[in-house]
Amino acid sequence: MGRKMATSELVALLSDREDQTPPGRIVRALSERGTLSASQIANVTGLAKSTVSTTLNALRKSGIVVEGGSLENGRSIGAGRPATALTLNPRAGTCIGIGIGLFHIQLIVADLAHTILSDQSRTLAADYTPEEALATIEALLVESYADPQLSRDAVLGVGVAIAGPVNPQDGRILRGGGLPTWAGLDIRQLVEPLFDCPIFADNESNCAAIAEMMWGSAQGHEDFVLFKLDLGVGGAIVSHGRVITGVAGAAGEFGHMSIDPEGDLCRCGNRGCLELTASFVRPLEMASRRFGYALQIADVIARAQGGDVGCRRLIEDTAEAAGRGLGIICATVNPGLIVIGGSMARAGDMLLGPLAASYEKHALVKSTDVPGVARTRIVAGTFARSDACLGAVGLVLRHHNRLG
Ligand SMILES: [Zn+2]
Repeated sequence: MGRKMATSELVALLSDREDQTPPGRIVRALSERGTLSASQIANVTGLAKSTVSTTLNALRKSGIVVEGGSLENGRSIGAGRPATALTLNPRAGTCIGIGIGLFHIQLIVADLAHTILSDQSRTLAADYTPEEALATIEALLVESYADPQLSRDAVLGVGVAIAGPVNPQDGRILRGGGLPTWAGLDIRQLVEPLFDCPIFADNESNCAAIAEMMWGSAQGHEDFVLFKLDLGVGGAIVSHGRVITGVAGAAGEFGHMSIDPEGDLCRCGNRGCLELTASFVRPLEMASRRFGYALQIADVIARAQGGDVGCRRLIEDTAEAAGRGLGIICATVNPGLIVIGGSMARAGDMLLGPLAASYEKHALVKSTDVPGVARTRIVAGTFARSDACLGAVGLVLRHHNRLG
């Protein structure tokens, strides 16, 4: 059967939120995980092996499922032959992720087997308008689909990662994000003129968590917390493989936990938010004053790694403040894994060491209270700049936060 037929059937199977039929469940499982063996599909979907086998035969015949990719834990135990790796047909269509950042827009195209086909980005001036954003997305689309092998007719879904909280009910950008002039904007209305397919959207930290779960440091984990340390502080809570958005999209906004009611006024309108002490804005100002020019986070990390004790101290102070926030998170969700995202993650052990010590100090459950398996592990994220956009592709593949 031709590619067009596979595409339209796939669109139907992927678009239907409630499709609990065996083909619907198998397609969704492969879309979320990329590559699986037949027995892994049975485990993930809970379908009987015989049902999986007959359904897979039909899906392979119609070109929706093909052999390919590689399995992480797919080899059969003992002397049996290795299990066959199955994916959705990568030629059936593409998914698009769009990252709308403070100073840049990025566009990633991936196939249904989770392979990245194109990754383009453009820098924009601060406070760019939605109209400028749309023109930039259109230009990036033309570049990304210049390859004649790729067709813009077979786009299965578009995910948008935004530098600010998104209301999951209506897809509008909430106040308090990194794009203050965009508050109230309907993301679906913004990108709809360019696409005739389902549109998904979430804030960049939630998208970063999805990227770490699908391709990065949280692979194989379905319950964890992403804690983003950068010029802002944010995060995401992932439970059973789903990002918890909360009723209005504010879940995981760790930077705006007020930890000092007498503290300074925060950009969100509250006082004494964690972001004021745990973001790297103030340390950067201090370092810049000391060295006499405007340093970036990477410069401070490099100087600290080169032996500068002052820069090292700034990183340690940030870790101490962040650990206080993580202590609150421990009392709220007690995660088994915390992935540190954002530019500060690049400081590695210099950050993670004091961060783990501060977490231990502020957490309710101490590591000595429990056996190793019940201790929280804190690791650095895999991605820095591309995480949000990659996660926007993940929104589509995992059918997360569809608008409309
Ligand atoms: Zn705040």
